Amino acid sequence: MMAHVISIANQKGGVGKTTTTINLGACLADEGHRVLIIDSDAQGNATSGIGVQKAQVGKDIYDVLVDEYPLAETIIHTAHERLDIVPATIQLAGAEIELTAQMAREMRLKLGLEPVLKDYDYVLIDCPPSLGQLSINAFTASNSILIPVQSEYYALEGLSQLLNTVRLVQKHFNPNLAIEGVLLTMYDARTNLGAQVIEEVRKYFGDRVYDTIIPRNTRLAEAPSHGMSIVDYDAKSRGAEVYQSLTKEVLAANGQ
Ligand code: ADP
Ligand code: MG
Repeated sequence: MMAHVISIANQKGGVGKTTTTINLGACLADEGHRVLIIDSDAQGNATSGIGVQKAQVGKDIYDVLVDEYPLAETIIHTAHERLDIVPATIQLAGAEIELTAQMAREMRLKLGLEPVLKDYDYVLIDCPPSLGQLSINAFTASNSILIPVQSEYYALEGLSQLLNTVRLVQKHFNPNLAIEGVLLTMYDARTNLGAQVIEEVRKYFGDRVYDTIIPRNTRLAEAPSHGMSIVDYDAKSRGAEVYQSLTKEVLAANGQ
């Protein structure tokens, strides 16, 4: 069995990509699956958010993408059982430009991942807030993309650009790239706006929108500063509950 590879992507920042990557990853691991997170954002929020210290990081995703360093040798085991990560550091900020000058640059992550696909059930790629070489590498290496959408007025803005990039990658590099699902995040039940946005997103994406909606939850925002997933930080929180529910939907959609 080869890992199912999912890019968590939306070129807007602050929509819940990293939060979803870490917490879906931890919940999938709790369900007995072997999970690898790839941090593909120079901010390194997935790396620090899952508790990996800068001092633990030797080579990282930059070295894999730019210098074709073996990905297997960059993997770090996290404190969460069955959950590993390929870390990112600020040096990744240079990768967009350096990759632009190189050959077969779109395939770097796909080629790097290939030897470890047999070691995992799920690979989750935490994408940066842009649609450049890093995202194209992620989409080329993926079976599908999961799109977190913030439940706010401009939720759909920019999504046509994202879908255009998906079509481009389908056409040139990865014809089988699918939409895994669309996840509404940071829902605030106290405003009417949230309900309108949900309706709008459901009209646009139909049944590709998950039934699970991630509400605003303080515990979800606190967990990364403790280097923990929500299930490690506060297993009884609403945040933990909703990410467990999302995980069941993702597993069901993949026949598990
Ligand atoms: P992205 O990776 O898309 O930039 P993040 O996952 O880093 O977004 O989320 C942006 C900020 O919002 C972070 O500080 C995060 O802790 C916080 N956050 C994410 N999801 C929630 C949520 N459901 N409730 C409250 N805060 C959240
Ligand atoms: Mg992020």
